[in-house]
Amino acid sequence: MRPAALPSNETDRLAELDELRLLDTLPEAVYDDIARLASVICETPMATITLVDADRQWFKAKHGITDDETPRSMSFCAHAILTPDEIFEVRDAQSDPRFADYPNVTGDPHIRYYAGVPIVTDAGNALGTLCVIDQKPRILAPWQHDMLDVLARQVRALFELHRQRATAERDRYRLELALDSARMGMWEHNVRTNRAELMGNYEKLLGFSIGEFPGTFESFLSRVHDDDRQMVMTKLQRAIELNDNTPSEFRVVRFGGEIAWIRATSRQILDDFGNVTHIIGLISDCTEQRMEQERLATYQTELLDMATRYEQLSLTDPLTGLGNRRGLDEQMASRVAHAVRHHEAVAALAIDVDHFKSYNDSFGHAAGDTALEQVAACLRECIRGEDYAARPGGEEFVVLLSDVDAEGALALAERIRHGIESAAWPHRAVTASIGVSVLTGTAAEDGDLLTLADQAMYRAKADGRNRVRTL
Ligand code: GH3
Ligand code: MG
Ligand code: MG
Repeated sequence: MRPAALPSNETDRLAELDELRLLDTLPEAVYDDIARLASVICETPMATITLVDADRQWFKAKHGITDDETPRSMSFCAHAILTPDEIFEVRDAQSDPRFADYPNVTGDPHIRYYAGVPIVTDAGNALGTLCVIDQKPRILAPWQHDMLDVLARQVRALFELHRQRATAERDRYRLELALDSARMGMWEHNVRTNRAELMGNYEKLLGFSIGEFPGTFESFLSRVHDDDRQMVMTKLQRAIELNDNTPSEFRVVRFGGEIAWIRATSRQILDDFGNVTHIIGLISDCTEQRMEQERLATYQTELLDMATRYEQLSLTDPLTGLGNRRGLDEQMASRVAHAVRHHEAVAALAIDVDHFKSYNDSFGHAAGDTALEQVAACLRECIRGEDYAARPGGEEFVVLLSDVDAEGALALAERIRHGIESAAWPHRAVTASIGVSVLTGTAAEDGDLLTLADQAMYRAKADGRNRVRTL
């Protein structure tokens, strides 16, 4: 007994047969129907759809035969696949030296006639045959050959369909795996029917039990938080009409009232004419990230408050609560800029406590500090809300006034001087000498307001102290 030779592409052919995943599958009516049709058309008692495996031939469909498979060594189909483009016909196996001693010729099922059409894939591999078998020698009519060819093409189409289905199933399995590990859900919204198909963790993320989600857009919406529902509807509409793929975040209310944040991304699916048929999307739970964002925002506000407090502190004199040197510099710069812009006057009062060294020497440094605080209180009492008072150092104070004339500035200086002199002092009366300078517009920028005020203050000292002077 001589088995058929191996095809030259045997390795490829077996690999493709394996990938097809059709070997050892359950019988299917469509294949059985084709085998039966072949046997009726060709008027043979037997017909099979055969796959030629490495060591065996296995019948995907069989008519008039009981075995599921037989060894490849006695396979007629193994011969047929050697000529993929032709029908392989053996008119009388008993008198054909190639087959005469085959056990299926000498014994059951006593094959005498065989005609097989190879089933060839796109890649050019003949995976098996559609064949008809008889127990007597014969010849097929040309139309029967033709019909056998037609049926073989159907088998080929079925194989292709099976391959595509197997690929789709594998893709789906991989997708499920990916969705699962990413804890994501997928939905496919049918634009025409308004129904959705789901994959992955979709139901879990939306708070449905498995198999509970009815698939309608309304049932999805029923889980969306009242305040976000309109936004979600608008978003879907925009995805359909404008191909708007920007992600959205919305809340869902899960069973038991738990609120979770969902992030959704989407994409259009078009038909051959460019019409949108589906919107496909991914959802994931972004509650943690939202909470993290909120925590971050709170933290930022707190930091900002801290920075503001620090900034204020850095501009404040800790003893009196008035401005310090930095505060004074800032205020001076902004008030002068404002005066230049609006052609307004800006005034400075330089206030120096008289004979303060002796006050300190007589009553101690702590009493001196208290006296400085009291001077600050006098300043606060006299100035208006928009004026600014600072203690740039020692027993020297400065008051800045905006939009005043010399008369107004002098009047305020006098009020301050009098206020200090007439305050209730615990040890001895405290007085101060005050210099006033007023500049308008660009003069405020060019002239040094504080230097001028200081000079005026020295004039007050020279004139006997406890008085107000201008230059
Ligand atoms: P004049 O009338 O000429 O201004 O005399 P004066 O004694 O006030 O002037 P002088 O500049 O000689 O002395 C200033 C004194 O102010 C020296 C110091 O003892 C006191 N002083 C400066 N800063 C502080 C402070 O923060 N606390 C206290 N208690 N005293 C201070
Ligand atoms: Mg001084
Ligand atoms: Mg002094």
